[in-house]
Amino acid sequence: MIEPSKIKEKFEKVERENYKFRTYLKNRADIDELDEQFLELHNELFKNYDCNKCRNCCKEYSITFEDTEIEQASKLLKITKKEFIDKYIEETINGYDLKDKPCCFLTEKGACGIEKCKPEGCREYPFTNKPERLLSLLSIVDFASVCPIVFEMLERLKKTYGFNRRGRY
Ligand code: SF4
Ligand code: SF4
Repeated sequence: MIEPSKIKEKFEKVERENYKFRTYLKNRADIDELDEQFLELHNELFKNYDCNKCRNCCKEYSITFEDTEIEQASKLLKITKKEFIDKYIEETINGYDLKDKPCCFLTEKGACGIEKCKPEGCREYPFTNKPERLLSLLSIVDFASVCPIVFEMLERLKKTYGFNRRGRY
């Protein structure tokens, strides 16, 4: 597995190839079969991986909170909803986005300061165990520039589909 701090450098080397592979999958992969392949890889690769040693997703992405998630998080932090919004949130067209990047709840040890009630987007990232991945391949290629697990998934899938390093098959 790629060292989290090296992922940008590694991704740059395969970026073009990954976009070609995305087009290849889009045109040829079976939607259900691809979901099964992603799910299998997701379960296998996350099983023994300690995300606390990576946390690239917490450093790179802006997190969006639902209204109820703000209520739960402010309760956990023992502050009011208004205090939480004033301190941490920026209201955008997406809704309630966290102001800070890296996320202000990321601790020095790589843990999440609001683990018990972190937003759904954090809990579900990188969504590779969800259905209809064929329709989300652009996001998946983007995630491979951040998440070592997704990077590895794409490399394994290239082998499964006989897709070589020059983008041929
Ligand atoms: S809320 Fe927690 S899991 Fe979500 S980005 Fe922040 S530190 Fe990471
Ligand atoms: S989900 Fe991916 S990017 Fe986020 S901490 Fe785990 S391995 Fe790193």
